[in-house]
Amino acid sequence: MRIAENIQYFEEQLKSSNCRLVAVSKTHPVEKIQEAYDAGQRLFGENKVQELVDKQPALPQDIAWHLIGHLQTNKVKYIAAFIDTIQSVDSLKLLKEINKRAAQAGRSTPVNCMLQISIADEETKFGMACEEAVALLQSEEYQRMEHIRITGVMGIATNTDDEDKLRQEFVCLRDCFRKLKESFFSDSDYFKEISMGMTSDWQLALQEGSTMIRVGSGIFGSRNYNK
Ligand SMILES: *Cc1c(COP(=O)(O)O)cnc(C)c1O
Repeated sequence: MRIAENIQYFEEQLKSSNCRLVAVSKTHPVEKIQEAYDAGQRLFGENKVQELVDKQPALPQDIAWHLIGHLQTNKVKYIAAFIDTIQSVDSLKLLKEINKRAAQAGRSTPVNCMLQISIADEETKFGMACEEAVALLQSEEYQRMEHIRITGVMGIATNTDDEDKLRQEFVCLRDCFRKLKESFFSDSDYFKEISMGMTSDWQLALQEGSTMIRVGSGIFGSRNYNK
């Protein structure tokens, strides 16, 4: 895989949009991540805490790491000091833990968090309904949190090549974003992200208003889990 060329390709594709690229480096070694970094990439996504914790010290410290996979509350403490964004926040309980661990870590900046909204068929177990996100944001507990900041929403579409269905799901996430923006964040410029679109469907996601596409195999090649 020509990693540098792929990074440049996406840079070119996104340059006239306000959409950014998260390079999803899960299962790939630090050497490959360094190659993408050397080509100018600074946002990287991982889906497992252990893997992220292993890689992070070996790579440049100005990488903005995004956690994009399901996060168990008992693992927040391992990433709280350095994580830039947790895209996969799916409960108030998890958000409370992130807030607590961020405070303990003595960070100079809050942890950016995105609410994961379920937009797909059953197959994705994680994520909240948009109404649950509303309830979370209405809660007093959330309103007292000082060490996190909600920057937007994230969704994983159904694994299908049915374009109409994909488009519907992306529109559903965009509508949820708009609703939350209007109700809770109309004065906050930091609530601005709609993270949707992967290697197979990023063009559709971009058309429907994605501000962050998460691309793995389209940059690093296919993943070999059996290595
Ligand atoms: C693995 C993963 C991606 C990237 O998938 P590709 O199809 O390789 O681009 C994007 N988002 C999430 C949440 C993932 O787990």
